[in-house]
Amino acid sequence: MEHPENDSQYKGLKVNKGIENVPSINPYLKKRVKRRTYTPSEFVEGILKGDITILSQAVTLVESARHEHQQIAQEVIEKCLPHAGKSIRVGITGVPGAGKSTSIDVFGMHLINQGHKLAVLAIDPSSERSKGSILGDKTRMEALSREKDAFIRPSPSAGSLGGVARKTRETIVLCEAAGFDTIFVETVGVGQSETAVHSMVDFFLLIQLAGTGDELQGIKRGIMEMADGIVINKADGDNIEKAKLAATQFRNALHLFPPSESGWNPKVLTYSGYFNIGIKEIWDMIDEYIAFTKKNGYFDYKRNEQAKYWMYESINDTLRDTFYHNPAVESVLPGTERQVLNNEISSFVAAKRMIDLFLENISRG
Ligand code: GDP
Repeated sequence: MEHPENDSQYKGLKVNKGIENVPSINPYLKKRVKRRTYTPSEFVEGILKGDITILSQAVTLVESARHEHQQIAQEVIEKCLPHAGKSIRVGITGVPGAGKSTSIDVFGMHLINQGHKLAVLAIDPSSERSKGSILGDKTRMEALSREKDAFIRPSPSAGSLGGVARKTRETIVLCEAAGFDTIFVETVGVGQSETAVHSMVDFFLLIQLAGTGDELQGIKRGIMEMADGIVINKADGDNIEKAKLAATQFRNALHLFPPSESGWNPKVLTYSGYFNIGIKEIWDMIDEYIAFTKKNGYFDYKRNEQAKYWMYESINDTLRDTFYHNPAVESVLPGTERQVLNNEISSFVAAKRMIDLFLENISRG
């Protein structure tokens, strides 16, 4: 019997015949189409037209670790390069709570209202590990996220700082080719990522707070030295005087630093992101800096130096990758590491052996 439960000995139990095919609960589920994939030329065409969906997909490829994605991404970047470079790139840093998202929202709206197109990118190599705020996240920039002229992209997910930064650097190229004339690169002002941001922006803005007693707030001296402008946020209500005092202290501190390479004297301003006070002045400062450095040649000099920096970064990254993914290296490395840990060979001998093995293998391959 097909259904023994229907035997008369099982009282009160009946199994129905049932139907062949259960209909899907959501009739539309089946219709869901797979995301269309594009050829590199289609990507480039879409990006140059300013198509945000295609731009987003291209950025996803840039961020992907898969080899075939990287191949397409690199071709797209190369084709976009002649159309890139025309934006003003601004790095924005500050400790968590300094008001970066609030400020980027109002800075961004200030620019959009003037007819600019803005891309907000981020570098936060720790975002995935710490589960902290993912920089550049749309939900943190409420007004901007509703604007069609704003493209907000969170930090590429955690990885080596060099890797994360390079992806953001490449994303800048795509955004510029798509017509974004201002690029913000946001980062948390506590670690190493500032150097990476500094090496891809024209202007470096440091957001600070007043009245915490220790005015340097864990901001490393090196970060202050990189800043082309220091802006003290939350200059509102009872905090105005404290903010002014902090500004004076920062100005004094800046005098102790050696003059900057650009010839520009970094400025210190106070503002309130929340109450939208002093925003225009910050933008005027950035415009003034751009005009100043374009005139004295530093703007182009710095961009060239940055291009050189990224060439070496890419070489280093690729070499490291090729080395560690080399099958011969992969198979011998754990054993060699053990030998070093057991004091059987020195670190230097171990390193030399691994490099020799690698060179032998690539010359054969
Ligand atoms: P982030 O961590 O640097 O991105 O900082 P947020 O933008 O999230 O701001 C941290 C907190 O400071 C939030 O509660 C904001 O509402 C507040 N805040 C930001 N800007 C201002 C400001 O100009 N004045 C005041 N009083 N509070 C602000």
